Amino acid sequence: MAKDLYELGETPELGVVPRKMHAQVIRAERFGEPRDAFQREVIEVPEVGPHDVLVWVMAAGVNYNNVWAALGIPVDVIKARQRAGEKEAFHVGGSDASGVVWAVGSAVEGLAVGDQVVVHCGTWDLADPHVVAGKDPQLAASAKIWGYETNWGSFAQLARVQAHQCVPKPTHLSWEEAAAYMLVGATAYRMLHGWEGNTLQAGDPVLIWGGAGGLGVMAIQICKAAGALPVAVVSSDDKTDYCKKLGAVGVINRKAFNHWGMLPHWTDDAAYGEWLKGARAFGRAFWDALGDKRNPTIVFEHPGESTIPTSIFVCETGGMVVICAGTTGYNATLDLRYHWMRQKRFQGSHFANDAQSRGVNDLVTAGKVDPCLSRVFEFDETGACHQLMRENRHPHGNMAVLVNARERGRRSL
Ligand code: NAP
Repeated sequence: MAKDLYELGETPELGVVPRKMHAQVIRAERFGEPRDAFQREVIEVPEVGPHDVLVWVMAAGVNYNNVWAALGIPVDVIKARQRAGEKEAFHVGGSDASGVVWAVGSAVEGLAVGDQVVVHCGTWDLADPHVVAGKDPQLAASAKIWGYETNWGSFAQLARVQAHQCVPKPTHLSWEEAAAYMLVGATAYRMLHGWEGNTLQAGDPVLIWGGAGGLGVMAIQICKAAGALPVAVVSSDDKTDYCKKLGAVGVINRKAFNHWGMLPHWTDDAAYGEWLKGARAFGRAFWDALGDKRNPTIVFEHPGESTIPTSIFVCETGGMVVICAGTTGYNATLDLRYHWMRQKRFQGSHFANDAQSRGVNDLVTAGKVDPCLSRVFEFDETGACHQLMRENRHPHGNMAVLVNARERGRRSL
């Protein structure tokens, strides 16, 4: 007979859904440092809508977005959902998962209980006229990131997802490896392959900030798979070999420069001149790392405020700076004279659609992109690993948390 609650490591019969589950929960009164904001609680298992599936989560990936959810900035995700009519006064985060389909909604086709899947975090209202019209659903007003903007993410025994979020789990990967790559991988895939007119081409020099970070390791490998020439930026020399092994043709240590931050005003000749010296020196460092006097045709951005002036300055004429975050701040400053005269593009990008998520999954399945799993945490260390990320003390690559998988290296239930 089905129990109300299963302990971690106890598995109900395939497809038997308990009433309650263990989850790592964030509440508004705990907003703050991730180590304290996440706490294990027992909560009700959510209901499944017609287009949803419940996934028995084997492992969950760790991303920056739940650092933000824990802090309650730049948005209070709980309050935002309550304003939209949801009743839950808590957040169950987690935007990456590997697991087993445990229940399917009445309208779901092409997925069955027992399927082993990786979950991508792009959700949208399937009835949104933009989506129905066949346009890119990531540009729909209803697009939301599962396990950040939506509830019922992967830091729980069962996660509720829309069926289209599921892709087949690459069979050569363990649960924790399979949970580690999708959010950053699909984001990087869209940034590099998704913007018509500036898509990645063989032979393109590409500048990748944070080359040893979650997004960076994916970007390097996606460039390599396309025959492009990735140059990575890092903050310590111990990351150099790591990036080169992944396919970087050269690596720049950003600590050798100090012109970071917002651009000085163009009328302040002295300060602007100093900044220009730094930006030019960085441009020369790019040529040295590439081994060729060519500028990047794509700059892969996410630090934001600190680095944007340089990114836009070094970008090739007609090239693109594509950005998905502002980790160091949100004020993007640029010298418009270079921007229009050299006809550069500054493109925002946010996660990915189904096709782009499948695009990176295919590269992983083919062994061309490694998940770069760094460290695996126990379920009750969910807060601790987000804390490491908050402090930029986390290891190179991508981290994962074991949820229902109780031992590392497993590939089956
Ligand atoms: P991560 O693993 O922490 O990597 C970020 C890298 O940025 C770090 O490894 C660090 O490398 C580098 N960095 C830190 N401070 C920097 C600075 N001041 N200047 C230049 N580089 C700096 O994080 P991630 O998973 O790659 O995510 C990065 C950001 O993207 C986060 O804000 C995340 O929320 C966002 N994101 C957005 C989307 C989206 O769809 N919009 C998707 C994924 C991630 P070094 O110290 O070695 O330089």
